Amino acid sequence: MPFAPPLIGEEEIAEVVDTLRSGWITTGPKTRQFESDFAAYVQAPGGGALALNSCTAALHTALVTAGIGPGDEVITTPMTFAASVNVIEHVGARPVLADIEPDTLNIDPTAVEAAVTARTRAILAVHYAGHPAELDALWAIADTRKCILIEDAAHALPARYRGRPIGGGDRGNPVAFSFYATKNLTTGEGGMLTASPEFLAQARIVSLHGMSRDAWKRYDKGGSWYYEVMLPGFKYNMTDIQAALGVWQLRKLARFQQRRAEIVAQYNRAFGNEPALELPVVRPEVDHAWHLYVLRLRPEALSIGRDQFIQELAARNIGSSVHFIPIHIHPYYRDRYGFTPQSFPVAYGNYERMLSLPLMPRLTDRDVGDVIEAVQDIVRSFRA
Ligand SMILES: *Cc1c(COP(=O)(O)O)cnc(C)c1O
Repeated sequence: MPFAPPLIGEEEIAEVVDTLRSGWITTGPKTRQFESDFAAYVQAPGGGALALNSCTAALHTALVTAGIGPGDEVITTPMTFAASVNVIEHVGARPVLADIEPDTLNIDPTAVEAAVTARTRAILAVHYAGHPAELDALWAIADTRKCILIEDAAHALPARYRGRPIGGGDRGNPVAFSFYATKNLTTGEGGMLTASPEFLAQARIVSLHGMSRDAWKRYDKGGSWYYEVMLPGFKYNMTDIQAALGVWQLRKLARFQQRRAEIVAQYNRAFGNEPALELPVVRPEVDHAWHLYVLRLRPEALSIGRDQFIQELAARNIGSSVHFIPIHIHPYYRDRYGFTPQSFPVAYGNYERMLSLPLMPRLTDRDVGDVIEAVQDIVRSFRA
């Protein structure tokens, strides 16, 4: 059982073929449709969204649009994929890591507060595994310290914080989504940025060569050949081939999420009374997107560690993964900023005992049963 294969249906395939036959394969009508469908789905501020070729591109575009650069600091979490932190380096700013909360594994507002300096321009929060970060506390810091809050929502479609969809806050801050092959909604590669209409208008320019009008509008009926380059922008636009997948994946998302929740419930029922296993936490104020099911081992209860646990799963034909190798132990960041594993002890300690179980809508009950049986068999065989 592979860890996370996508679920692509005949509708997506037909829509891609329709695009290929239409004579317009790059950014065009399907991208515009996907943007407005997506914006409606997450109740984006001003009803707009910007489709891009990745979440990494969306985060980079957000930082550039916010004017963050050399001399600035951006506070973020060590418990994330490298992209969230690489983009801070790309704009020449300094990533400042703040340790995580031991239950949700999201960035800890207390650690954020302690990491703020006069150079802090932004807080980049990641909604880890699909559980929204503690947004009220982060907003309180961002407001008093006059910095912007950027959300990496790569895992958080569709998640809610105090009833509001992630990406749909009335604050209009930038929120970046990923449609990478393993994510809850996929376009193969792709991303989306939501923000206030003013921020998005500028981000649209930043994301496409710094051009004041995009190609679709130029070549459309009544369009003009004229454009102006306002800044040296990037080439981050989504194609209509990708958007063709996205419009159908979005229509199916509620069904996908229902299945994810069912699988989570089956895992929780099976592992809830097992002292060697620690289950994912859901705080009452959130709706979890369940991108990942992260199980934590209690080392004192087992005679094997996480690495061997994963090998034992693989020996039983169950794919699993680790989310994430903390940023501060990767050679680039470790050496550049002089980190040791204990620089962020909560992130490191949890990393050492975590693994992600298969969690995708295409799993059958029998598949889920196989995963449960394998985990329980390993626990039985290696009890301390
Ligand atoms: C997948 C992921 C990204 C990057 O998304 P891409 O669309 O592949 O650029 C960023 N942050 C987190 C937390 C991710 O898991």
